[in-house]
Amino acid sequence: MKRVLVAGAGGFIGGHLVVRLSAEGCWVRAVDVTEPEYRDLPADEFLTLDLRDADACLRALDGGFDEVYQLAADMGGMEFISSAECEIMRNSASINANMIEAAASAGVDRYFLSSSVCVYRDMAPDEPPLTEDDAYPANPHNEYGWEKLYAERMVSAFARRHDFEARIGRFENCYGPFGTWQGGREKAPAAIARKVAEAPDGGTIEVFGGGSTIRTFVYVEDLVDAVVLLTRSGEDRPTNIGPDERVTIADLVNITAEVAAKRIEIRPVDGPLGVAARNFSKERITELGWEPRYDLRQGMAETYRWIAEQVAQQ
Ligand code: NAD
Repeated sequence: MKRVLVAGAGGFIGGHLVVRLSAEGCWVRAVDVTEPEYRDLPADEFLTLDLRDADACLRALDGGFDEVYQLAADMGGMEFISSAECEIMRNSASINANMIEAAASAGVDRYFLSSSVCVYRDMAPDEPPLTEDDAYPANPHNEYGWEKLYAERMVSAFARRHDFEARIGRFENCYGPFGTWQGGREKAPAAIARKVAEAPDGGTIEVFGGGSTIRTFVYVEDLVDAVVLLTRSGEDRPTNIGPDERVTIADLVNITAEVAAKRIEIRPVDGPLGVAARNFSKERITELGWEPRYDLRQGMAETYRWIAEQVAQQ
């Protein structure tokens, strides 16, 4: 039986990954500094550890693993990223430095790092897609992106020195059920789903800048498929993960309103917008055989259903 470790398993994507790996028969150790907020996980073992600490990372990796999935990070949407840059740079860098060193000394076979398309520079709305190599010369828009870029390089260096397989997925914005949907760390799809669920039919929701920025969103189950596929593949270069579908945030509001069967108006308000546009090549991941099963409408229908339930239970 394959032994796998999921770090950051108490979080959104890590939780879905635990469900996926358990379902395929892996023995799963899940690790996080906090317990999962929204559901019990089918992990064989759940360890509560603060992975900023080197000894905690050694404890997490104790026993030997075929695959390590590193998803622990101090993480949130644009509002959090723009206000917590010191915490992100200190906490996530500590986690990544200690986890990769512990993995190297434990002799793991395969190590997956969750990186982000935040490693890329800002783009104009009509620019052609950037490839993974276009992350250099580096000019990420925010400190979260710089931390990810440094972590990518650290993981690759340790893999070269210690001769194990490292895989790096650069995630587009991920959305789906069982993710943070309130409190300040939620990302745009969850925040919009919550606001639409709270609004009456014909109501108005506030959107930073009115929603003209362009993004791509990946449904969490599709993302988890890609993560597992990439980890077990021979592709050792950083790899973008997400569909080709690009929308404005205003489009995302309209799709959410449609699945909620509500008429919703947007009121523009001041707030952190992040980059103006994103457009990245998905050739590397599609060449491995990955294709998304959910389009944005289907994915938002699932996400809205779950968030509307949470809102109703408050
Ligand atoms: P999340 O916040 O839901 O999960 C991260 C988990 O890490 C949390 O459960 C948190 O408790 C845990 N964690 C934080 N500090 C820790 C510590 N010191 N020790 C142990 N655990 C700790 O975030 P997510 O959306 O599931 O993201 C997972 C990974 O994917 C992160 O690396 C994130 O940067 C990356 N990513 C996510 C997105 C997205 O849209 N969600 C996009 C790009 C990249």
